[in-house]
Amino acid sequence: MRKLLFTGAGVAALVSASCATTTQEVRTTGDSQPTASSSAPAPKATNPLLAKWSGPYGGVPAFDQVKVEHFKPALEASIEENRREIAAIANNPDAPTFENTIAALEDAGRTYNDVGTIFGIWSSSMNGPEFQAIEREMAPKLAAFADEIAQNEKLFQRVEAVYNSPDKAKLTPEQQRLVWVHYTGLVRSGAKLDAAAKKRLADINQRLASLYTDFSQNVLADEENYVVVLESEADLAGLPESVRTGAAAAAESRGMPGKWVITNTRSSMEPFLTYSSRRDLREKVWRNYVNRGDNGDTRDNNKLITEILKLRAERAKLLGYATHAHWRLENTMAKTPERAMVLMEAVWTPAVARVREEVADMQAIANKEGAKLKIEPWDYRYYAEKVRKAKYDLDENEVKPYLQLEKLREGMFWVAGELFGFSFTPVSNVPVFHPDVRVWEVKDKASGKHVGLWYFDPYARPGKRSGAWMNAYRNQERFKGEISTIVSNNSNFMKGKPGEPVLISWTDAQTLFHEFGHALHGLASNVTYPTLSGTSVARDYVEFPSQLLEHWLSTPEVLNTYAVHYQTGKPIPAALVAKIEKAATFNQGFGTIEYLSSALVDMKLHLAGDKTIDPDAFERDTLGALGMPKEIVMRHRTPQFGHVFAGDGYSAGYYSYLWSDTLTADAYEAFTEGKGAYDRDVAERLRKHVFSVGNTVDPAEAYRSFRGKEAGTDALMRKRGFPVPVKNKKAN
Ligand SMILES: [Zn+2]
Repeated sequence: MRKLLFTGAGVAALVSASCATTTQEVRTTGDSQPTASSSAPAPKATNPLLAKWSGPYGGVPAFDQVKVEHFKPALEASIEENRREIAAIANNPDAPTFENTIAALEDAGRTYNDVGTIFGIWSSSMNGPEFQAIEREMAPKLAAFADEIAQNEKLFQRVEAVYNSPDKAKLTPEQQRLVWVHYTGLVRSGAKLDAAAKKRLADINQRLASLYTDFSQNVLADEENYVVVLESEADLAGLPESVRTGAAAAAESRGMPGKWVITNTRSSMEPFLTYSSRRDLREKVWRNYVNRGDNGDTRDNNKLITEILKLRAERAKLLGYATHAHWRLENTMAKTPERAMVLMEAVWTPAVARVREEVADMQAIANKEGAKLKIEPWDYRYYAEKVRKAKYDLDENEVKPYLQLEKLREGMFWVAGELFGFSFTPVSNVPVFHPDVRVWEVKDKASGKHVGLWYFDPYARPGKRSGAWMNAYRNQERFKGEISTIVSNNSNFMKGKPGEPVLISWTDAQTLFHEFGHALHGLASNVTYPTLSGTSVARDYVEFPSQLLEHWLSTPEVLNTYAVHYQTGKPIPAALVAKIEKAATFNQGFGTIEYLSSALVDMKLHLAGDKTIDPDAFERDTLGALGMPKEIVMRHRTPQFGHVFAGDGYSAGYYSYLWSDTLTADAYEAFTEGKGAYDRDVAERLRKHVFSVGNTVDPAEAYRSFRGKEAGTDALMRKRGFPVPVKNKKAN
């Protein structure tokens, strides 16, 4: 039914923050998978995970009562409950109708969804060895349960009957779309296959679920274990105070007081590679990072990937598709891998040309400084920063004192008020899963009506996956009475010293706005059925609202009021803002190629069919054939590509960020062509046709309703500072 959207993150260049997402799906009728499992005795009411969410705001998760030992019995009991609900729908003696079949499915699995939601939160945010053992045990069981539902013949016959019934035409457009979503979800999960094929499909899905779990646990282990310890002041050369403080705190927490630790995550690696003047250490930190999952040890992911790709290819064949990519893209906006490839290839060539220019600029600076070197991947960020200073007189460290996390959060709230009429009030009467988590109530400013809750978990800690993401704990719906949404934003900022504000980089500020865009997509939802709610949209559409919101960070309204110096309280100087604007397309060659090489390798791996693939060799050959600039590595190399191998969610789907960004760039131009970023009419159209409709409308249609035209790629090229192809210019 409902989908847990894990928007994990990372950011491209200074300007295009594209958050990476991994998805875990817990759906009863979805793109997943038979088998009866679990003979566990149903545990009684003593398990807090099985209690209906209680308390204010229509009930909230009882995070304060959850213990790791609750998960397995709660999942098993809620599976049992859902199994009975499904059996009641499938075995209903009455003729199938929308109400007794489709709506009944929407109302089934509520406990299972609630438990799965909290299980997902522990997986991403409260992970540890005890939890990982349960995760490994439960992953194949959850996959088996999904298949059990997808392969329930009586259930499918009823859904199919509603789908084919002439009465369907009498349903509301939202109900008709819901029928289509359930029907296609079941067919795509193998509902029409014969018994032998169904059995094989279910075996594949269970094996994949185990492989995905191992894959992500391996990456997490390499992120925690392969760290670089800095022993002396000389090792810190070039690092700004904030990086030193973070590295000292990381050493302290690892029992190495007086030293400094560069952990193996993006948020540690990036600032180190940007500022460290120690080329030897830059290389070391870089190698650690790009070799995650590829170290030839017990945590190496290469064999897992080979098996995952084989199983996915076999599954696609069983389901009647040429390749895994064709299966995955069928229900997306792009619809076919070929269309996604056309877009990627159109952007690849100008981006490579831009990289050549960027490298030439960097090489010139290195030569001038007398450094006898050729730019290598561990030099890119370091010299790019020097070019930024030289060309735009823009120093990131000059900007940072104006970017206080809490002030920017207030800025986001203000933007949400201007665009969507929301107000935010902190609440302290709901339990949280960690003391760092804070909660706000969201209301409609005009009517005072409750809209939902926003949970905010900003800081890094052991057991929390890296990156940033949005998660919906509960989707908005109203077919059985009004249910308000609960959403969360999660990130990995380094906590500052006690009493001092947390200062973040411009890129991190963009990511903050990005994730908040996902949260607003959830909060603005105004639909009837939970399956169609909020961010439950096509994979290549879901990043559009989030990427769009990034644009409001750099509006003068936000910067003048919320980008204030943490010591003087003065707003960021106009001259500095002008420099940020002027440098907006700086380093887009790097950001685009780093991302696009990952997206192309992902797609080509899943177009390769069922041949046995050696991931390292495939990656090398593919990048060679593409003409990958040797100064850049993929943003996510294959052995650590969690989007693609920690689940099905973004497999053959990493292109989605670019697809969405095409819409984003074009959509923002609707504001700039109008009265500007706060144009009320455009904002209202955006709310009406994009943010509020969830998956009740075909996304291409929703976009046309908002914009009055198709997006095209011209705005995307302008946004990234690439030349707009002449033929497109005419067409526009
Ligand atoms: Zn995102």
